Amino acid sequence: MNERVDVLKRLQIIQKKISEKTSFKDLQTKEIEKNKALLQEKRALTEKKHEQLKSLQKEIDKKDLDLKSDEEQIKKFNVQLNSIKNNKEYTALRSEIGSKEADKSLLEDEILILMSQLESTNEEYLKETEKLKGDEENLDEFVQRANCDIQKVDAEIESLRRDTLKYADILDEETQNQFNRLTNANEKSPIVEVIDNACNGCSMNISLQTLNLLMSGKNLTLCPSCQRILFLNDHH
Ligand SMILES: [Zn+2]
Repeated sequence: MNERVDVLKRLQIIQKKISEKTSFKDLQTKEIEKNKALLQEKRALTEKKHEQLKSLQKEIDKKDLDLKSDEEQIKKFNVQLNSIKNNKEYTALRSEIGSKEADKSLLEDEILILMSQLESTNEEYLKETEKLKGDEENLDEFVQRANCDIQKVDAEIESLRRDTLKYADILDEETQNQFNRLTNANEKSPIVEVIDNACNGCSMNISLQTLNLLMSGKNLTLCPSCQRILFLNDHH
């Protein structure tokens, strides 16, 4: 086997490692983004709960005011009641007081329901806030760890790239270019063996002419069909 094939095989192994490490890095980055988005959704939900709390409180305050105004009205009516001599007016006012008292009682019921809603919503809000705090801490830890991993992998990739250059320097320009072309096209096996007169990359038969060229070992030989770099093993 000539030196070119040997070097190309080493390069292919290094490229495979680089590609694996790059995929790992991309995965980690995506995982960070995904988790950040999830936390953002949870934050939005908790914020919504907070808005609910505020609007419930506002409704209660409003009904409290209505209740106070009803109470004052009833007090006023009761004072008026003392000064009325006329029986008919007295009955009319009594009936008005009765209707105000009914309003008041309805408001009191509504306020009680709202208060209980406020209480349960507040409990949920506190629970969510507590959970969110834990999630935020977990995410921080995860991001720190992932970034640490990414940094480590970056250094490994950098070192592999330097190895690539070292090996590539040994190759002639044509071989270098073809190898780079295949690698840049995301080809995982830029160099493939010819087995039983067929390209092991695309399974197409290799012509006798190409085979002879390959056996002479002088020129870079490509598969006519998939353009991968061909090589023969020693036993051929
Ligand atoms: Zn092929």
